[in-house]
Amino acid sequence: MWVFLNDRFVRKEEALVSVFDHGFLYGDGVYETIRSYGSRIFMRDQHLARLRRSAEAIGLTIPIPEGDWPTLLHEAMRRNDVGNDRHDAYLRITISRGEGEIGLDPSLCPKPTVVIMTKPLQPLPARLFEEGVALTVARTRRNLPEALSPQIKATNFLNNILAKRESIAAGTFDSLLLNWRDELTECTISNLFFLSEGALRTPALDCGILDGITRGIVIQLAQEEGLAVQEGHYRLQDLQQAAECFLTNTSMEIMPVGHLDSLTIGGGKPGPVTRLLQARFVAGRTRFLEPSA
Ligand code: PLP
Repeated sequence: MWVFLNDRFVRKEEALVSVFDHGFLYGDGVYETIRSYGSRIFMRDQHLARLRRSAEAIGLTIPIPEGDWPTLLHEAMRRNDVGNDRHDAYLRITISRGEGEIGLDPSLCPKPTVVIMTKPLQPLPARLFEEGVALTVARTRRNLPEALSPQIKATNFLNNILAKRESIAAGTFDSLLLNWRDELTECTISNLFFLSEGALRTPALDCGILDGITRGIVIQLAQEEGLAVQEGHYRLQDLQQAAECFLTNTSMEIMPVGHLDSLTIGGGKPGPVTRLLQARFVAGRTRFLEPSA
């Protein structure tokens, strides 16, 4: 496996980062996970723009010129024999504050650390998409945006990891997190949608969620299908009325949810609107891919 580290590709064994890296010491960094379909990267510019926004939000200057990213991502895929007819690629870009003396001041770190990793994208078992998954409502609350904005895709992921530990303990697929106002937010690595009273609903960004790229596409596809879409402030009671529920993210696309703790949603099976949006997503996907090389 080849990893891009700072300014060149090195073997996995040589891809080592200092124990003084503030990413390691303080979780001071940002990241993106991206995927390809075949050789074409999905929503490439949108992912790179979000990386830039995350970096700007923490005052981190990305040391790679914007125009170099597409070539670097493709080189990473080529060297690892992914992003081709045989394997869709999973790509992860990590940019940490870099190596520096112990202390919180970012100016201790003159040079950010840049890493690109890629591997074959492992699709989740088809059974999950056919049956729908179960969620746990986490006791862990989603970060207060004024404390650490969920819009920043930060390498400090403890908020999500604590919630994930709860779902692992409960034996469920993932945790759904509420915010400080008892409103629905998102799961640990995905956005939430549900259907009730004829409208497709999803928590608004100011509930304290990541502005998911797949979320944006699903809103667009639903509107193209003539569905009413409401971004709002919802509570668990609203989900109890839901006829359907699903999650979205880049690697799994649209995942139906059948159970939430002891509640069964829509008979516990993927509903017709979920199925329709999954089909529209697959059919319309090429619109969201970078041009062929
Ligand atoms: N919410 C969180 C907390 C995430 O980490 C992710 C994906 O990484 C998402 C939502 C979904 O975002 P996207 O659709 O851009 O993959």
